[in-house]
Amino acid sequence: MHHIPGALRNRIAGLGREAALALLDAVYPRRCLSCGRWMPGGEEGFLCAECYQSIEFIERPCGRCGCETGPHSRSSSGCAVCRNTALHFHSVCAGGTYSTPLKELVHALKYARERSAALPLAEVLLEALRGTAGAEFAEVVVPVPLHGARLRSRTFNQSALIGKIIARELELPFAEALRRTRPTPSQTELSPTARRRNVKGAFAVSRPKAVGGRQVLLVDDVVTSCATVSECARALLEAGAGRVYVATPARWGI
Ligand SMILES: [Zn+2]
Ligand SMILES: [Zn+2]
Repeated sequence: MHHIPGALRNRIAGLGREAALALLDAVYPRRCLSCGRWMPGGEEGFLCAECYQSIEFIERPCGRCGCETGPHSRSSSGCAVCRNTALHFHSVCAGGTYSTPLKELVHALKYARERSAALPLAEVLLEALRGTAGAEFAEVVVPVPLHGARLRSRTFNQSALIGKIIARELELPFAEALRRTRPTPSQTELSPTARRRNVKGAFAVSRPKAVGGRQVLLVDDVVTSCATVSECARALLEAGAGRVYVATPARWGI
């Protein structure tokens, strides 16, 4: 049995050809992108039902940084984590917490280059975006960029893949309007303060006309300390963008 290449499936899914997809499923049974189990025929999407049910949706998001605040705080001035941090965006909308199965989907997308993992991630994010200010007021979707060297080794920008699907579904223009001015070391091992220093001044707007005077929905695959998206928002605002709303499928609280 062959596993159908993700890129092909993705292209077909992108065209909305359900019939063609169903036919493909009959010929090539699919594996769940998170747990890897073969999925029974007729099961929709890229996650098995069990994995979909284990997504930890954000129940009480911080009105500012989008993290799960628990039952105690929901103030728009921020939670205990972000209250005293300068953030250049308006708010973060997150699909769920960065845990199984969203974590596996992000890994499949970034490290195994499984492009089709962008679809379930975008679906989860769209679900969370429904009815938010970001979905209502944004006029253009912009992804967080990769630096040229990393883009060449990964061959695609995972945030751009997710952003394109979001833009299509919200019927908004999509613009890769940001670029990295320098490579930045991975943020994973850094403290919040070191993360802010690491990305300071690392972004510039390469397409000011695409964002000037417009409210922006900024898409990143994972948001952790908010340092990267805040720095992107700063560059967008300096280039004349209106408000910047951040959207991410997976929020990693620190
Ligand atoms: Zn599964
Ligand atoms: Zn917060």
